[in-house]
Amino acid sequence: MSLSDPVKSQRICVCVRKRPLNRKEIVKKELDVVTIPGKGVLLLHEPKQKVDLTKYLENQTFHFDYSFDEDSTNDLVYRFTAKPLVKTIFEGGMATCFAYGQTGSGKTHTMGGDFSGRTQNSSKGIYALAALDVFTLLKQKHYADMGLCPYVAFFEIYNSKVFDLLNKKAKLRVMEDDKQQVNVVGLREVSVSSVEDVIKLIEKGSACRTSGQTFANASSSRSHAVLQVILRRQNFLFGKFSLVDLAGNERGTDVSSNDRHTTMETAEINRSLLALKECIRSLGQNSEHIPFRMSKLTQVLRDSFIGENSKTCMIAMISPGMSSCEYTLNTLRYANRVKEL
Ligand code: ADP
Ligand code: MG
Repeated sequence: MSLSDPVKSQRICVCVRKRPLNRKEIVKKELDVVTIPGKGVLLLHEPKQKVDLTKYLENQTFHFDYSFDEDSTNDLVYRFTAKPLVKTIFEGGMATCFAYGQTGSGKTHTMGGDFSGRTQNSSKGIYALAALDVFTLLKQKHYADMGLCPYVAFFEIYNSKVFDLLNKKAKLRVMEDDKQQVNVVGLREVSVSSVEDVIKLIEKGSACRTSGQTFANASSSRSHAVLQVILRRQNFLFGKFSLVDLAGNERGTDVSSNDRHTTMETAEINRSLLALKECIRSLGQNSEHIPFRMSKLTQVLRDSFIGENSKTCMIAMISPGMSSCEYTLNTLRYANRVKEL
């Protein structure tokens, strides 16, 4: 089908965001190999070697719905990605927004923002910005009369297991009933009445994510974190916005690693990211068969891949340095495939 198909083109939005070179990369005088010349275009200058052993950069061009350069703020990125999806959940639909990319590329910065107060330009991320808009809409007369009640859930998926970030990382079971309804048994849903409530829960869950004995701090990059803003009407599910900070997509660098645990962990992440791509593609193609059982991540998000009114947005995060080039290329190819029909 053509790009002008309005339903399809609005159901899935795929964007890229380039972060600035960080201090370490600047000190190492790393070359910035990513250029964003226009709204939806990204150029990757891939280092190549000629037969005579001289180095040169080969340009590769990628097209996306939007591409955000290193000067773009969380606010701007939000406005063109997750913001248009907020309305979906007020129409009884399901919305999802994914942050994809290698570790250190800016996923958590974009989704969670920075509340540490340590930096001068501490800013809200997509989690908080979406919550703000949800409360703005809840106050509008049209929606206020509908009797919608907002809740927040926050959990993590690590090695196919689900942990509740709002309940001391309690391990939760995922059950599928005979109607294929998927349930995360015992997942805590906290009733919220203001943005401040939501921000407190984001902070609580994020702190929980990077602490505890279940696995080491560094492992937060090896897990998917899912924040859900849920609207209920008379206790029945009305709409749900899932905001997902995905596990780092870097492949195990040492394939011969004899650390069995790391190898399995990497295999599991690869499986879930592959499943995600297939599920989003099925959504775009209005396909009958959605392979959501391929991974725990897609199983838990099953709701989001079905239904007339499901919308998804993916933001692929890019590290601009030459040393990340291979990972960046992987990320760009993946993001391209998500929407390619
Ligand atoms: P990830 O979650 O993908 O591993 P982070 O979000 O933790 O990556 O980002 C890594 C570092 O880069 C953090 O210190 C973060 O503050 C910084 N960073 C990421 N994106 C940006 C950006 N767009 N502008 C400024 N700093 C950023
Ligand atoms: Mg992170």
